[in-house]
Amino acid sequence: RVEQVMGRKLVSGKVAGVRISNPQRVIDQQSGYTKGDVASFYASICEWIMPHLSGRPVSLLRAPDGVGGQQFFQKHAERLAIPHIRILDRKLDPEHEPYMEVNNIRALVGAVQMGTMEFHGWGANSRNLDQPDRITLDLDPDPNLPWKSMIEATELVLAVLDELGMQSWLKTSGGRGIHIVIPLARYANWETIKEFSRAISAFMARQLPDRFTSKMGPKNRIGKIFIDYLRNQHGASTVVAYSVRARPGLPVSVPIAREELAELRGAGQWHVGNLEERLQGLQEDPWAGFHHRQRIRKEWWEQLEAKA
Ligand code: ATP
Ligand code: MN
Ligand code: MN
Repeated sequence: RVEQVMGRKLVSGKVAGVRISNPQRVIDQQSGYTKGDVASFYASICEWIMPHLSGRPVSLLRAPDGVGGQQFFQKHAERLAIPHIRILDRKLDPEHEPYMEVNNIRALVGAVQMGTMEFHGWGANSRNLDQPDRITLDLDPDPNLPWKSMIEATELVLAVLDELGMQSWLKTSGGRGIHIVIPLARYANWETIKEFSRAISAFMARQLPDRFTSKMGPKNRIGKIFIDYLRNQHGASTVVAYSVRARPGLPVSVPIAREELAELRGAGQWHVGNLEERLQGLQEDPWAGFHHRQRIRKEWWEQLEAKA
């Protein structure tokens, strides 16, 4: 069924059994893609996105008028009736409205029907909300930096992670930067994970202050890359692998293999129009082995905190 949807012009108004209203409405002027195209795209990459999306609380970036229009993040279902979406037990976090999960193709497409363009996920599983299962280092460049600096910076961070002995994987953000994702065993709390992420960010900034900063804010980042560790806290989310971005040209956040980094041409290299070709040409999943369960070792803290 997925193959039938792929590359087919939407005429019937239904994708994966979900009726799409206004399927011909253009939602990105640059590419000309319509709401129906986005729904079909998500249906076609359902198998790729689900491992990163299902089972964890999701924030939806809704942009009902498309790229350039008003956007808002939605963390709670509220009155939004997304068909087939899973509403989580409110006891998980009694101070908030219940969270939601997207676990199947109909919820995925149903969210698009309700104006969703981007899917953002927590760094924790819904069953273990207080025990994160990944760290995301969000490399945010000064927009004026050449792309080559972004690649070099990523290589430098990877060299440090390798030296420590941490396993990590890469994805394009679909925006300007790169996300380094470090899978974890579920055992530590958010406070520990945030501190550890901050320690990596601060270490890089200490070692290479001309290239990196661990301080938020555009003026701290002039000519540099901010290693944003703040994705790693309770309630924070990061765009999930294979999500579209609500930006001109509809780029996609795409997992890449290490060996692809040097040749990467930009954070928006893949988009709704060319991702299918990439996926069909892959020899193996660039994130094979991702579900590696590592724990933060005492020596890692010591090495990162040692004075240069
Ligand atoms: P880029 O490469 O352009 O930085 P990005 O997705 O990494 O793309 P950031 O601005 O660095 O964008 O944000 C990182 C993540 O933080 C986002 O993917 C999103 O999940 C989360 N985020 C950012 N702004 C908000 C917001 N206003 N509300 C909720 N989450 C947000
Ligand atoms: Mn970023
Ligand atoms: Mn950021």
